Amino acid sequence: MSPDPAFPAEPERTRQLAEPSRARVYEVSPRDGLQNEATIVPTERKAELIARLVAAGVRDIEVTSFVRPRWIPQLSDAAELVSLLPQVEGVNYWGLVPNPVGLERALEARMRGVGTVLSASETHNKKNLNRTVRESLAGLEELIPVAKDEGLRVRSYISTVFGCPYEGHVAPEATLTLAERLLAAGCDELVLGDTVGMANPVQVEAMIALLLQHGVRIDQIAVHFHDTRGTALANALVALRAGVTTFDASIAGLGGCPYAPGAAGNLASEDLVQMFEAMGVSTGVDLDRLADAGHYAQGVLGRELSGRYHQYHAGRSDEARRRAAARNTA
Ligand code: MG
Repeated sequence: MSPDPAFPAEPERTRQLAEPSRARVYEVSPRDGLQNEATIVPTERKAELIARLVAAGVRDIEVTSFVRPRWIPQLSDAAELVSLLPQVEGVNYWGLVPNPVGLERALEARMRGVGTVLSASETHNKKNLNRTVRESLAGLEELIPVAKDEGLRVRSYISTVFGCPYEGHVAPEATLTLAERLLAAGCDELVLGDTVGMANPVQVEAMIALLLQHGVRIDQIAVHFHDTRGTALANALVALRAGVTTFDASIAGLGGCPYAPGAAGNLASEDLVQMFEAMGVSTGVDLDRLADAGHYAQGVLGRELSGRYHQYHAGRSDEARRRAAARNTA
């Protein structure tokens, strides 16, 4: 990352030995972000956004969902999009698969990594997937071994781990049970989803500790935070200090909150990368190029995006342009 002249990083002095020295950014904007946007983005522009994310150094990108096209029109171009993506050594593209048909489509598109979804709370699972948690889990216990036999990497999201928009509090034990069953079915990575941004750092710490106490390895845990209430970075820091190294994030905070129009959505990738790099935690991502991808995303969506660093960077760019214009006219 190029140093921010206003706030130079001092990695040697600020880095604590307690936390990992590297973190992996798992970019969710093309799927989780765009799914929650009203605008339907043309396939070529999605491919361009993804190419810019790759150029910035992002190595894991969830590009689409192989849902029935009718369900989520924003993602109905899954196969075509995948065919347009740049093939770069070390870059992994991921797609969600809701069911065996989706898995079939993901295999046809030659995906090497797939994601599965279910919720820790009954009501959210029912509204989101139209099934009980038990039914969803049974489906995944059949689907995951098939995906593994096909040689795919599988990451399994557990949504509403830290709170449900319908039920409120969600017992950590519900997540533990799902985690154990999903891992037993063969998933490689569990993603603890704070679907509506209700998590606080104490909860995050306790949830991770509970999983570790029951034999889940720290490298099997990823975190997916939302910034709905402004707590995403605090939660990310606690997860990092617990040893988690995979963090979901979305460029410029793309994707709002489906339960609260206008609210912030996913943790913004630039915010995460900026904080980690300033702490001396390497992400392999170039912050300036990432910020440029954020401006591209904003142009495509045609609305102000909520990421903090994104807005700060935009302000600085505007100021630089104003100064350059003033110099030219002087
Ligand atoms: Mg999300």
